[in-house]
Amino acid sequence: MRNELFIDGHWVKPVNGGTFPIVNPATEEVVHHGPAGTAEDVDLAVRAARRAFDQGPWPKMSGAERARYLRAMAAGIRNRLQELARLETIDNGKPIPEAEWDIGDAAGCFDFYADLAQELDRKPVEAIALADARFTSKAVREPVGVAAAIIPWNYPLLMAAWKVAPALAAGCTMVLKPAELTSMTAMELAAIAMAADLPPGVLNVVTGAGPIAGQALADHPNVDKLAFTGSVPVGSKIMQAAARDIKRVSLELGGKSPFVVFEDSDIDAAVEWVMFGIFWNQGEVCSATSRVLVQESIYDRFLDRLIEETGKIKIGDGQDPGVLLGPLVSRRQMDQVLSAIDKARADGAHVAVGGGRPAGFNRGFFVEPTVLVDVPLESDAWNEEIFGPVVCLRPFATEAEAVMLANDSKFGLAAAVMSRDDARAERVAAALRAGIVWINCSQPTFTEAPWGGYKQSGIGRELGRWGLENYLETKQITRFASAEPWGWYIKDSTLS
Ligand code: ADP
Repeated sequence: MRNELFIDGHWVKPVNGGTFPIVNPATEEVVHHGPAGTAEDVDLAVRAARRAFDQGPWPKMSGAERARYLRAMAAGIRNRLQELARLETIDNGKPIPEAEWDIGDAAGCFDFYADLAQELDRKPVEAIALADARFTSKAVREPVGVAAAIIPWNYPLLMAAWKVAPALAAGCTMVLKPAELTSMTAMELAAIAMAADLPPGVLNVVTGAGPIAGQALADHPNVDKLAFTGSVPVGSKIMQAAARDIKRVSLELGGKSPFVVFEDSDIDAAVEWVMFGIFWNQGEVCSATSRVLVQESIYDRFLDRLIEETGKIKIGDGQDPGVLLGPLVSRRQMDQVLSAIDKARADGAHVAVGGGRPAGFNRGFFVEPTVLVDVPLESDAWNEEIFGPVVCLRPFATEAEAVMLANDSKFGLAAAVMSRDDARAERVAAALRAGIVWINCSQPTFTEAPWGGYKQSGIGRELGRWGLENYLETKQITRFASAEPWGWYIKDSTLS
């Protein structure tokens, strides 16, 4: 486990020597002390990224050359998959098989953007047909410059990959600030970049507290682009920081994603996808299926099956075999989720299963998988993100009512619909106001497909070719190609 920051191709101690404790959420033990960067370290990292962009080879390389580095990073991640997954589980709490899935996805993300980097070479220039034949014009794509990534703790390495891979593919240089709760794999990503011989300053990793290192990075005048994933309140601060000097900004924020289950659905399949939607990663997922709308004719049967299956989930230390639900990331997160459940009860909701800390656990930040019913529409439980294994259920009568309830949210990240009637599923998918709509499933995420939200769930899209766009500028190059003089001010010049 590392205790240094990665700046300009070197491991360095934070200028003021600060550290923060790294806690295993399953045992509450302090396993390590990470390096707490401050504004001074951030400044060094941004300067290094600036130099690497303005004077270094990175942005000028061909896409194919950058792709070689990205592929080496993908291989570096894959070669250490088990070890990285274990670090992720110690840091975040998630079960090992989920961590392994994430690390594999992170490697895949680097390979995917390596392909897109190569594609940039194949179509670097787009000719533009102008109505005025005296000019010729073309559009070229260029990297935005120095990009800063501020990422959350729910998918530590994967969220890093979603930003680092496209930024590097585009030719940007980057400063990455992982969440202070989960920074171990980001440091390993730096080690992997170093082993891949990435030129100095292209990727810099500064760990530290959000309001200190994160804010300093968002505020830094030499950063051209901010890419953030996290909560709405911090997203708003990032956008304010960006507004001050017109930085480009992309935000992936919270959600309260609905799942509409029609009466013609296979009940077991519906229960399975709802559980996958809310209990995978302990429900600490921005797109988590946290509002389930079930057509009234199957509501009771659906609820019974959901209660039965939820009761069987094996809770425990993510490192133990067979565990399907680990601890939440921190005591603060556990307390927030437990108080959200208490508030829901006080607001009139009923706990159908779960509702507290699991019996028999005297340490670790565990919360039972919880199903809430009779949740009032105006309650916080129905409207606010809980970010834990807590799902709210409501019956509905008609398709129109389901769509109305599903869309009645300030968020619009994801939504899901289940029905055997394809035409209905497509109709509802079209009517849902969300950036991601799943039909007959919930949560599967693909590197090739765009990811991001409507409304307060964010701005911009990550992943796929859309993710690359985040890190590219478009430049118009226009040439005056006429043999005639322009002749506006100087009417009778003689061509010499
Ligand atoms: P959570 O509340 O679930 O921890 P946050 O949105 O606070 O989620 O955290 C997401 C990321 O934002 C983390 O890397 C965190 O350190 C960072 N962060 C928190 N506060 C700020 C801030 N004021 N400025 C910049 N980054 C911040």
